[in-house]
Amino acid sequence: MFNSEKWHGSPESVAYRPGKGLILALLAALAIVISLAGFFFWYIPTVGLRSIHPALPYVLGAVVTAISAALFFSAAIIINAAVKGKVPFYSPWLRWLIMKFYLPVMSVAGAIFKIPKIKTEQAFVAINNEMVRMMGRKFRAEKLLLLMPHCIQFDNCKIKVTRNVRNCAGCGKCEIGELLALSDKYGVSLFISTGGTVARRKVYEERPDAVIAVACERDLASGLQDAYPLPVFAIVNKRPRGYCMETGVAINDVKQAITALMGR
Ligand code: SF4
Repeated sequence: MFNSEKWHGSPESVAYRPGKGLILALLAALAIVISLAGFFFWYIPTVGLRSIHPALPYVLGAVVTAISAALFFSAAIIINAAVKGKVPFYSPWLRWLIMKFYLPVMSVAGAIFKIPKIKTEQAFVAINNEMVRMMGRKFRAEKLLLLMPHCIQFDNCKIKVTRNVRNCAGCGKCEIGELLALSDKYGVSLFISTGGTVARRKVYEERPDAVIAVACERDLASGLQDAYPLPVFAIVNKRPRGYCMETGVAINDVKQAITALMGR
């Protein structure tokens, strides 16, 4: 069992909420703004285009309409995913659109509308996880990697687990022992990383088919974009003592992620 006696909580600890309402609002607003912008970009040069060729305004109009329709269609699919947790189909193109277009634009929109960054990052994590689920792929256990941050370790533990997690004595003072047990039970790799660069190197060396990563929202948001197109199921850590110190993870969430990715 995890020893919570020494954890007292802190105002910096942020309870993780997927924030589906935020996803819906931002996506709907973005789809409308983009379509309106598209209309104006079509309407304004229409007069000039007509002087080149009378058909050009209609060609541009068709292109703008097609792009707007695609954006609305994808936004509708994402909203459906956020509400129902499923979509009628999955397309790599849709995931690309979300990772490379909607989510960066959502961050900018969030900054403009003064939405706390952590909220857009939580929305990013939630929608990323929906997309990974929607892929519907069954990953082999040996091709799954559990990536944990070093700050998950009990602060006074003298055992070095970053080189070899099997050094852990499983004393129960932090969750590394339980994660090791999960790793053994399902046959997935477990790595405790000292930082983003080390985590990237591990992914590069191990070449997993999918990763289950635990970290704070900020690290997850940047890591997910860096790792694309590698599917990464992201789990926000617990921070009863604030950032980067004796953080934790809901073991059941990790277990569910493993079984979901293995298709069990
Ligand atoms: S569970 Fe392992 S890593 Fe955590 S404090 Fe105990 S021995 Fe150290």
